[in-house]
Amino acid sequence: MSAPLRLYNTATRTVSEFAPLQPGKVGIYLCGATVQAAPHIGHIRSGVNFDILRRWLLASGFDVTFIRNVTDIDDKILQKSVLEQMPWWALALKYERAFTKAYADLNVLPPTYEPRATGHITQMIELMQKLIDNGSAYAPGNGDVYLEVRKLSSYLTLSNQKLDDLQSAEESENSFKRDPRDFALWKSAKPGEPSWPTPWGAGRPGWHIECSAMAHTYLGENFDIHGGGLDLIFPHHENEIAQSQAAGYGFANIWMHNAWVTTAGEKMSKSLGNSLQVQELLKSVRGIELRWYLGSAHYRSMLEFSFEALEESAVNFRRIEGFLKRATEILGYLPDPLIAPEFASAMNEDLAVPQALAVVSENVRVGNIALTSGDQAVIATQASEIRGALGVLGCDPFDPAFAASTGVTSDVLDGLIVLALEQRTAARARKDFASSDAIRDQLAALGVIIEDTAAGTRWSIN
Ligand SMILES: [Zn+2]
Repeated sequence: MSAPLRLYNTATRTVSEFAPLQPGKVGIYLCGATVQAAPHIGHIRSGVNFDILRRWLLASGFDVTFIRNVTDIDDKILQKSVLEQMPWWALALKYERAFTKAYADLNVLPPTYEPRATGHITQMIELMQKLIDNGSAYAPGNGDVYLEVRKLSSYLTLSNQKLDDLQSAEESENSFKRDPRDFALWKSAKPGEPSWPTPWGAGRPGWHIECSAMAHTYLGENFDIHGGGLDLIFPHHENEIAQSQAAGYGFANIWMHNAWVTTAGEKMSKSLGNSLQVQELLKSVRGIELRWYLGSAHYRSMLEFSFEALEESAVNFRRIEGFLKRATEILGYLPDPLIAPEFASAMNEDLAVPQALAVVSENVRVGNIALTSGDQAVIATQASEIRGALGVLGCDPFDPAFAASTGVTSDVLDGLIVLALEQRTAARARKDFASSDAIRDQLAALGVIIEDTAAGTRWSIN
């Protein structure tokens, strides 16, 4: 038994033991993409980091409900829809699909539920009604709805700011606000923009309200973990907390934030944006290699991107993969994944992936020595522990998700069928026709058709 899981909580600025609200269960809400452009690795790093958290919780025996939303209505989406000359909803769907493909290419597990903002207008209206009824929010009569932030003593505690120091981020000239720092839950309809009817007039949601409404819908009033990128702490997450707590919900117990992908020490620049799109990078490395690279840094550390570092990381990964392939060939079977205690200790300490990778490197070093000496027991143990670790990191080359890109699964399948056919030939040679027929029938039951030809036995899948 390794030590229990400890996680860093942005809200308390400490690492402490994870205590789920319900034993054995974890509810996670991750702010997903605003679907207004093709995903670059800065966007997808968050998905990978929180997928590692989810996989580690699953490997630790938790039942995980994972929500990642899609922001499909937003100022940027409306602006892009004009630029790309397509309806806002068509643009949003186009990029939502691009994100879905990128997540799949990088083996990010699909969320338990993936709610879209526009599918939850009713829940947003219910929440706003509640906030207006209890005096936390107000509708000044022009179709907007605002949250009155001064009434909330907990406001800005996540980002550790003082209300007096805060400038209004937008619409400072807006005379409908009681205080310039109040933020919009709902924005009144503007000509040519989409809108939905509400008791306070037609309009569209402000960005923040959707996450409070959807987290409440799928995870309830209190849930375990809320995640997102570092840049979301303020204003987005502060405003989510304000809305939810003003409604009387406890909201998230733990706040986790992943750091950025940086270039030249800065948050990824727009100029490099296109070359760092996921689909562009997948022209030079495989999905499993890009994932390995993005997941290799600690989630709270900046990941300084360079093409050289990506290539070096891919080469390192291929060494690990190469060991697993050779081990499987020598053993004649694929060892089952197993979590090494040292790996578990590292992951339990706020998902210390760099330390966990040091354990994997040691597995590979010991395993390679065993390959040379032919020590099958050691080869099997190391291969099992590597597969266990790689599974948690979402980078097991034997995972069917990567089969198409690695070819490993088809190699294994081919090896297994050839093995069965050799057994059949041996059975026939000793005139054990009952066994040879049984092998043929069992393969046939799996849809494997075998054909005896002059050149030998061929197989195909029906
Ligand atoms: Zn959010």
